[in-house]
Amino acid sequence: MMRQYELVERVQKYKPDANEALLNKAYVYAMQKHGKQTRASGDPYISHPLEVAAILTEMHLDESTIAVALLHDTIEDTTATRQEIDELFGEDIGRLVEGLTKLKKLDLVTKKAKQAENLRKLLLAISDDVRVLLVKLADRLHNMRTLEHMRDDKRARISEETMEIYAPLAGRMGMQDMRDELEDLSFRYINPEAYETVTQRLAELSQRNEGLIKKIEDELHELLVANGLLNASVKGRQKRPYSVFRKMQSKSLSFEQLSDVYGFRIIVDDIPACYRALGIVHTRWRVVPGRFKDYISTPKQNDYRSIHTTIVGPSRQRIELQIRTKRMHEIAEYGIAAHALYKDGEGGGDGELLSRESNAYSWLRHTIEALAEGDNPEEFLEHTKLELFQDQVFCFTPKGKLIALPRGATPIDFAYAVHTNIGDTTVGAKINGSIMPLVTRLSNGDEVEIIRSGVQVPPAAWEEIVVTGKARAAIRRATRMAIRKQYAGLGHRILERTFERAGKIFSRDGLRPVLHRLGQRDVEDAIAAVGRGELSSIDVLRAVFPDYQDERVTVKPSTDEGWFAMNSANGMVFKIPGKAGQNLADAGEDGDRLPIRGLSSNAEVHFSPAGAVPGDRIVGIMERGKGITIYPIQASALQKFDDEPERWIDVRWDLDEANKSRFMARIQINAINEPGTLATVAQTVARLDINIRTLSMVGVATDFTEMEIDVEVWDLRQLNQLLVELKGLDCISTVARVYD
Ligand code: MN
Repeated sequence: MMRQYELVERVQKYKPDANEALLNKAYVYAMQKHGKQTRASGDPYISHPLEVAAILTEMHLDESTIAVALLHDTIEDTTATRQEIDELFGEDIGRLVEGLTKLKKLDLVTKKAKQAENLRKLLLAISDDVRVLLVKLADRLHNMRTLEHMRDDKRARISEETMEIYAPLAGRMGMQDMRDELEDLSFRYINPEAYETVTQRLAELSQRNEGLIKKIEDELHELLVANGLLNASVKGRQKRPYSVFRKMQSKSLSFEQLSDVYGFRIIVDDIPACYRALGIVHTRWRVVPGRFKDYISTPKQNDYRSIHTTIVGPSRQRIELQIRTKRMHEIAEYGIAAHALYKDGEGGGDGELLSRESNAYSWLRHTIEALAEGDNPEEFLEHTKLELFQDQVFCFTPKGKLIALPRGATPIDFAYAVHTNIGDTTVGAKINGSIMPLVTRLSNGDEVEIIRSGVQVPPAAWEEIVVTGKARAAIRRATRMAIRKQYAGLGHRILERTFERAGKIFSRDGLRPVLHRLGQRDVEDAIAAVGRGELSSIDVLRAVFPDYQDERVTVKPSTDEGWFAMNSANGMVFKIPGKAGQNLADAGEDGDRLPIRGLSSNAEVHFSPAGAVPGDRIVGIMERGKGITIYPIQASALQKFDDEPERWIDVRWDLDEANKSRFMARIQINAINEPGTLATVAQTVARLDINIRTLSMVGVATDFTEMEIDVEVWDLRQLNQLLVELKGLDCISTVARVYD
């Protein structure tokens, strides 16, 4: 395991004035935070961030990036927080560490389009700093190097992910070495047999050709020096297993048929020297046609520059040659990282300029811009997938803000995660551009657009749908507020009226000093309590005006006639049918067909007193001397027949569409005592083409009247519509169907 001082020395080697204190502080902090944690290998956990940091020193990265590498797992795996890191190391480092924490939470997604979409978003989310990607790649490289300690199934998954996402990403960023190593490490676990075969063949080959690489190196070097390129250096290597394997696959060749398993690199001082070296080599050895490429005059998108050619070499071996300058070599090795070194302005203002203007940076920027516009992300991403945590989903606002949610989260959770106000006013959602139900479970990479209305109150039922605590709490609160507001409106009107009758004026301010006497916490609560009927308006009146002489401001208890008389001035008309259509005994007399199936024809049949309507689930009960009574299944009267199954008759509605009739149902209403209330109720009933058969007052309190209405409706739908409309009336506090 690498030591702390070794790491510092490495950094100082390429950056003599590096901030040593920062490196030491980051090391000590990570060390303390990871404490006794160990890796799968049994090594202390700190060895991992330390090695990741070491990998980045090979790319000559600045000390903040190295510090971020040391800290990269602290937020995710220890008690460390972003805030703490901000305080200790500054916001810049805190932001980078948090970026890495976010990346860690991204998961594999199977559908190709989805992946592409996700990486697009991911890049958008982190594009503000390429150092996050560099640390992430180094992190992955070290994890791959130590993969042997992981469980089999994990190895395969991680390797596939590396092959599909991280290796191409390294390539795209111009880090060829990183890419090669990631590919070889993955290859080993993804296709162990092929890996074994290829490495074995390569080993045999290098044994057979022992000294060949050295021999060719020397011969090339001598030739170049003899022709005046005194500083030229030549480095040969056998190709890596995965690149050999890939070539075998793509060209359908056997190992024996592969000719160019050796590659040589010539590094010279400047560009003219590159072309001179090319001329020298081509003059001396035969060129394999069609293999010459000049990436110096036309660099690759990722800023790679070199001349490529293939010759038939000194031992009649085909040899691939790369010719480049030192600077080109650095970029080829470290890609973006080679520029990142100059990011802090190290190396002067030119360095800064260089890094901003370099192809690699502009490539990255261009890529992100192109992706942001949604141009064919698949093309760029090829096989790129995201690493995700199993238990989380990452979604994005239309503006590209990343929203992390637990798995199973809905657009409602998303809306509340963005802002409570947004959640409260949500009425719909577009997911990836299409309108989707609010119960939809979100997937990784979904872009969610919330459709809002100005006045929506979140339905209480949402509480069952959402998965985040934040959403649940907010819905509960909003529901409570809405109910309170409703009751407060009601209470306010009741109080105004009561005070008016007493010749007083109601004001909220007047209520405040007497709250304690009423046992209420605040004015809103008190008014809502009146609305709910928990506090009488008279009591409030007396509390505010203790001198007020009680004259019983109650509405006199009234009979049906009283109500009718009282409201007749409103000119309303009750439709009470002469014939109660649905007394089935009567129906029998009229010769009408019974609308019920399951009955023997000679039975005497009637409905229970509270009625039943088509759409209700019904049962028939055989009662001695009374015939059969039809009950809705909710009727509590059924309980007394629980022990007598023989009396229960399975009956079903059997309606004659051509000859429809109305059925009776009973509802109970709790209304404010206020002139016009009954008229409003009756008008609502009439408007829905419903008949009132009877109406009775069941109880009259100071502020409320309870009434029971038997209505005649075509079916349950019409009845439910009535209930909904009545509920919506200001003068009504509760409405319910009664089954007994
Ligand atoms: Mn890590």
